[in-house]
Amino acid sequence: MVLSSVLGFPRIGANREVKKAVEAYWGGKLSADELTKAAADVKKASWLSLKERGVDVIPSGDFTLYDHILDHSAAFNVIPKRYLGKGLSPLDVYFAMGRGRQTEGVDVPASEMKKWFDSNYHFVVPEFSEETEFKLNFNKALEEYNEAKALGITTRPVVVGPVTFLALGKAAKEARAGFQPISLLGQLLPVYKQLLADLKAAGVESVQIDEPVLVLDSAAIYEKQFAQAYAELAPVSPKLVLTTYYGRLDSNLTFAAKLPVAGLHIDLDRAPAQLDDVIAAVKPTSLVLSLGIVSGRNIWKTDIQAALKLAQKAADALGKERVIVATSSSLLHTPVTLASENKLTPEQKDWFSFALEKAAEVAVIASVLSGSQDPKVAEAVEANRVSIAKRREFERNSDATVRNRVAAITPDMLERKSPFAVRKEIQQKQLQLPKFPTTTIGSFPQTKEIRQARAKLNKKEITVAEYEKFIEQEIENVVRFQERIGLDLLVHGEPERNDMVQYFGEQLDGFVFTQNAWVQSYGSRYVRPPIIVSDVSRPKPITVRWSSYAQSLTSKPMKGMLTGPVTILNWSFPRADVSRELQCKQLALALRDEVVDLEKAGIKAVQVDEPALREGLPLRKADWQAYLDWALPSFKIATAGVTDALQTHSHFCYSDFDDIFPSIQALDADVISIEASKSDLKLLNTFKHYGYSNQIGPGVYDIHSPRVPSEEEIKERIAAMLTTLPADLLVINPDCGLKTRGWAETEASLVNLVNAARWARQTY
Ligand code: GLN
Ligand code: ZN
Repeated sequence: MVLSSVLGFPRIGANREVKKAVEAYWGGKLSADELTKAAADVKKASWLSLKERGVDVIPSGDFTLYDHILDHSAAFNVIPKRYLGKGLSPLDVYFAMGRGRQTEGVDVPASEMKKWFDSNYHFVVPEFSEETEFKLNFNKALEEYNEAKALGITTRPVVVGPVTFLALGKAAKEARAGFQPISLLGQLLPVYKQLLADLKAAGVESVQIDEPVLVLDSAAIYEKQFAQAYAELAPVSPKLVLTTYYGRLDSNLTFAAKLPVAGLHIDLDRAPAQLDDVIAAVKPTSLVLSLGIVSGRNIWKTDIQAALKLAQKAADALGKERVIVATSSSLLHTPVTLASENKLTPEQKDWFSFALEKAAEVAVIASVLSGSQDPKVAEAVEANRVSIAKRREFERNSDATVRNRVAAITPDMLERKSPFAVRKEIQQKQLQLPKFPTTTIGSFPQTKEIRQARAKLNKKEITVAEYEKFIEQEIENVVRFQERIGLDLLVHGEPERNDMVQYFGEQLDGFVFTQNAWVQSYGSRYVRPPIIVSDVSRPKPITVRWSSYAQSLTSKPMKGMLTGPVTILNWSFPRADVSRELQCKQLALALRDEVVDLEKAGIKAVQVDEPALREGLPLRKADWQAYLDWALPSFKIATAGVTDALQTHSHFCYSDFDDIFPSIQALDADVISIEASKSDLKLLNTFKHYGYSNQIGPGVYDIHSPRVPSEEEIKERIAAMLTTLPADLLVINPDCGLKTRGWAETEASLVNLVNAARWARQTY
């Protein structure tokens, strides 16, 4: 019989119970016991509903109140000293590591967060040093296994693998120079042995051990460590299923397939082409192959016929007993269930599968492979065939105008008319900006009042006209504020935007929106990505109204503000039937029209944000060029339709550009701003290495914290930057948008920024 399996489940709860409970606990409105109870209820509901959908192998130990890597660090006692000895309970230490803590007598910043592989999920980076003392503070996998067992459900515990745990971590500040976390493997393994032996003693049959680093180029150097780890762990453990996801094993397959484990899970959603190689590698062994065939990353219904073909191939080669049908990765990147969507049309709803619907898919595929004669299974397969056929039919309705326009893109559409040096002169004439011009990244505080006004509009408690009046008032306040403190290039503050991607999705054709499709970004922060369902176009101007209104209020130049094509694509659920390249270029053309319209409306500078450009880079270096080959042109299509006189800006949130800086140069934006306050030196080294020819604003202070930077500090930063950057290229701005900040610290910080720029004008 072929088993079905799900690798992990969303943690939020069908009605955001966990998010609400966690935030209530932080706000002192819920006790720790009540939080535990709320979490237990959600876990119970998830396990029961997976069982109900017919899933054989149900995960446990994958739940978390904040982040599963943070859980693992807390369990293994990888807790930086700064969080200890403060009189905090273990739960509060845990949350302090995740989000920092500022209460009486305690003031600790959060640990660093990083993007989880190529997803929009962030994990809390473990910090290791020679002083790390591993011990098992608790065994989450065992606790959850028992919790499920008490409900009559046998689960397969999920554990983060030892090599991945160390490889994703970083050296703590106190570690000696050159310290490598992986050097701790020998000390870490005894604790893993204890954890796994405890699971075995509790009767656990098999464990999903996650080693996603195996899909990275960088894992090749860990061949020895993998061999050592699994040789030590396998004898004391339940059966281990070595689990990889988000990409292909490539050459790492050679050693992964030889490890003494019972099974191997591969991602066939992201990397279907690896199946033949993997089958060949595992065939001579006794490994069970878990086929990650139902996507854990998108929200599209699985084409069951196509999935069956792949799975059948593996079953024919290895025998049914050696095959498991699974989700490609944990379902943490998908919303809980379609059942809570009431606004999608029945036609649209029929296109999608969220986590619970995907669970049903793995169960059906496994049943068919097993030769099930159950009429319900046949019915499900037939219903899927009909849905997929309808979706294919819909996909044929492409928008000829949009498709033709993409096909007709010519190289000259990607280039500005004149080189930067010429443009700079022309732009300066009309912008009249001082040396070291000051500006911001776009958004100003999204206050409670703004969110309430939007909520009232959505509930029809106020009219559109009333809402727009309110937004105009907000814009006016922001403009007056910037004039008052003396900023040079102004912004309108983005009060009309619920989110920088959703807002544009809502104004473009080709997207649909959900009510409840929340996906975890980090901790208790969830986003609701729009879904691209058909060809994208712009029915009418989007931001022109607000930018022109803002410009009408002031004689200072107003910067228009748009989200770039690559970022909109990367932060949406894309279509699966056409390439990301095509979708990105459609977005690019829509934005090109918007930029041109802004110029026509008298706007003299436009910023097109691409914070997700870097994170969208493929996991394997070999795939980078193919991505950059459409991502960079898309940005250029969006921004190059204007005259030389329009100053184009772009913004990037991450400063980690060492290896792709030439690509950022190639965008040829007149001005870029980059987050830099946390990594001055690194970014400056990058500039030193490559040089930079256009204008640039490395952020002079960190906006992620309410802390107000002193004027002195900002001056020092500017001085440091001027050791590397030519004075006529430097722009002075914060690290990122101010929407999550309060007004008090925003005002104080920006006043210091403006004063520091004035000082620089006199000094340099
Ligand atoms: N213009 C956006 C803002 O200021 C940019 C946000 C971002 O970079 N993530 O909020
Ligand atoms: Zn940013």
